[in-house]
Amino acid sequence: MSYVLVTGGAGFIGANLCRELLKRGESVICADNYCTGSYANVSALSGKGDFKAVEADITDPAFERIAAAAAGTRGIKRIYHLACPASPVHYQKDPIMTARTCFEGSLNVLKLARDTGARVLLASTSEVYGDPLEHPQKESYRGNVNPDGPRACYDEGKRIAETLFFDAKRKWNVDIRVVRIFNTYGPFMAVSDGRVVSNFINQALKGKPLTIYGDGLQTRSFMYVDDLIRGLLGMMEQTVSSGPVNLGNPEEHTMLEAAEMVKMVTGSASELVFEPLPKDDPTRRRPDITLARELFGFSPSTSFFEGLKKTCGYFHNSAMDIDFQP
Ligand code: NAD
Ligand code: UDP
Repeated sequence: MSYVLVTGGAGFIGANLCRELLKRGESVICADNYCTGSYANVSALSGKGDFKAVEADITDPAFERIAAAAAGTRGIKRIYHLACPASPVHYQKDPIMTARTCFEGSLNVLKLARDTGARVLLASTSEVYGDPLEHPQKESYRGNVNPDGPRACYDEGKRIAETLFFDAKRKWNVDIRVVRIFNTYGPFMAVSDGRVVSNFINQALKGKPLTIYGDGLQTRSFMYVDDLIRGLLGMMEQTVSSGPVNLGNPEEHTMLEAAEMVKMVTGSASELVFEPLPKDDPTRRRPDITLARELFGFSPSTSFFEGLKKTCGYFHNSAMDIDFQP
């Protein structure tokens, strides 16, 4: 049976996706350089079903050869292309590497798809809309991105990755799918990830103050990872559209509301501390998911409150023995 390749498979979303694919009886190769993900996220999968973890960097010119060799004569039928740091803290640490991952890495993945005939899905992002002037965001919105700011390595990186995908479809006839993922959270996020949900939960579990950036009135729409995984699989297997298609949960909250909900779920008495708002931090974000609903019946079913409870359970165990800052 041919393989499903997951680039970035040892990261937060990748670890959840690899598990679901194996549950569905697929043979899975996880390719990751472990820069933000961890082998520990997938080590338990070896020996459970047909699973291989390969240490590889998608920017390596040898990436196509390495991935094809891992699949051998069985070949690759699907590629979920997730490899890229996603937390602002991590993608800004080495911005040139982030941009290279989006451009050179995506190009290597597309060449692999071209040469193996695999269908390939790009995990793009709501960040392509930048600080949106249209609300909620539909796929037709072209975005408001600062090309010179600290978030540009990621925002513009994902925009060029989308461009490469559509050019590979036009020039090489690669069978592509592009999804734009809105803020997602859940088990297998790293304790040190730096994104808001994992920060708040880990701060609350340790009785530390919850760090609100700016006045906390900026909004995000949070999707639980199980809903996203259903969306990724649905988009991959439908045959009507290459995308781009939004995947998110339209339930929108301010960061102050998110902090209060985390305190409620954890039973924490932590105070809130206010820290400076990072540059170019988008003021609001909410997906219009009409297209995903029409194409493959996408309908996120986990409320933010329910998802937080499940995620707290995960962090409660992993946060105990890791010294987390802040
Ligand atoms: P993550 O940082 O947990 O996972 C990314 C994985 O990619 C990690 O395992 C990392 O080691 C790997 N990686 C990074 N650069 C690589 C490279 N050059 N070669 C090989 N592996 C590399 O992040 P995540 O939240 O799981 O995000 C996965 C994908 O989904 C990313 O492409 C991200 O842009 C996209 N996305 C995520 C969200 C979200 O809210 N989580 C939102 C929008 C888009
Ligand atoms: N944020 C916050 N406290 C934190 C981490 C983030 O208030 O400890 C804010 C951040 O400024 C942004 C929102 O939460 O407005 C979401 O940030 P995150 O890094 O999770 O994702 P983004 O959507 O910005 O990529």
